[in-house]
Amino acid sequence: MTPVLVINSGSSSFKYQLIDMETEATLASGLVERIGDPLGEAKHTVFAPQGDGPVATFLDATRTRELPIPDHTAGFQVMLDAFASDGPSLQDHPPIAVGHRVVHGGARFFEPTLVTPLVEINIDELSVLAPLHNPANLAGIVAARKAFPDVPHVAVFDTAFHQTLAPEVFTYAIDADVAAAHRIRRYGFHGTSHKFVSETAAAFVGRPLEDLKQIVFHLGNGASVTAIDGGRSVETSMGFTPLEGLVMGTRSGDIDPAVLFHLARRSGMSIDDLDDFLNKRSGMVGLAGSNDLRDIRAAIAAGDQRARLAFDVYVHRLRAYAGAYLAQLGGADVISFTAGVGENAPYVRERALETLGFAGVEIDHERNMATERGIRIISTDASAVTVLVVPTDEELEIARQTLSVARA
Ligand code: AMP
Repeated sequence: MTPVLVINSGSSSFKYQLIDMETEATLASGLVERIGDPLGEAKHTVFAPQGDGPVATFLDATRTRELPIPDHTAGFQVMLDAFASDGPSLQDHPPIAVGHRVVHGGARFFEPTLVTPLVEINIDELSVLAPLHNPANLAGIVAARKAFPDVPHVAVFDTAFHQTLAPEVFTYAIDADVAAAHRIRRYGFHGTSHKFVSETAAAFVGRPLEDLKQIVFHLGNGASVTAIDGGRSVETSMGFTPLEGLVMGTRSGDIDPAVLFHLARRSGMSIDDLDDFLNKRSGMVGLAGSNDLRDIRAAIAAGDQRARLAFDVYVHRLRAYAGAYLAQLGGADVISFTAGVGENAPYVRERALETLGFAGVEIDHERNMATERGIRIISTDASAVTVLVVPTDEELEIARQTLSVARA
């Protein structure tokens, strides 16, 4: 067994997954929540290794505990206790490395990086660019290094995959000196998912990654689209922060920046209010009152006009980006959909691509509507562009990258 532990740490919670890299099977996963509240919650799920008879009593066994979890270090102790009591035993199969999701690597980190004290300082310093995420990611790294002091820890950055963007793609048309002084440029996010999906898609269609022009729509609560040429990110919709681009669950995506000046002058909203407004109270929540597409669909079925408009705005933006990225790439070989909406909402996929027949995109209605899971083709056999649904697996991608660094 070659277990790798993957940590995705937020400010008041963290998720973990233990993956055996020999089979790429998940051995256990969990969620430690409400860190810092009077009562926290820890959930630990154990998966039976394939074909291992006696362990099957643990098959997908989930246990939830409520107990005080004052900080991340205490959270890691809770996780260690869960492994000790419910398995699998970390004594018998200790992780050979720990991989950490880090949201912002700035222009500094373009590949998975072994965590050292200097790297921790850099991640902390980049908190200026990601104040909600990097401090939380770092808290997880610090606590995990205490819990697992003897194994390599690797930081895998959401921005790293997009470090291949050309200057004309990552540069905003603002005063160059101001931009340089404040490190303002497009960074792009969801890179781990875009990399995983584009590589998985290439393997699935059986063609070398280097030969393919691809567009990946990562449509979850956060959403972004990336154009990938020969395995390299050449254009992506999220920018300086994960606010730019597509319409999301709670984020506006693209908007005329002058709206902010107008609101600041006319509504009395402060900078923090505006930040909150565009990041947490816009997108589908702002338009229709829910960030969950299932609610929006139900509301549309019940005749809710606000929900209808929200859905149309969402789809219109997808289509605009699909067209733009087809133009930037000069056509595409593969278009993939992934994440909560991308994997589960056939009506979104169909509406997003239905006008792209001129570019060789032809969705097969039956294939698209099929409810099967796993990677699958949803375009017709005659379609020049292969359209896929590719379930993303950011944890596995982080584990793969972690292993490659740990073994280097
Ligand atoms: P993610 O951020 O990838 O976990 O995606 C979460 C979002 O996916 C939810 O807010 C929903 O909008 C959407 N979603 C999840 N399951 C479904 C489903 N079965 N049908 C439509 N949308 C879904």
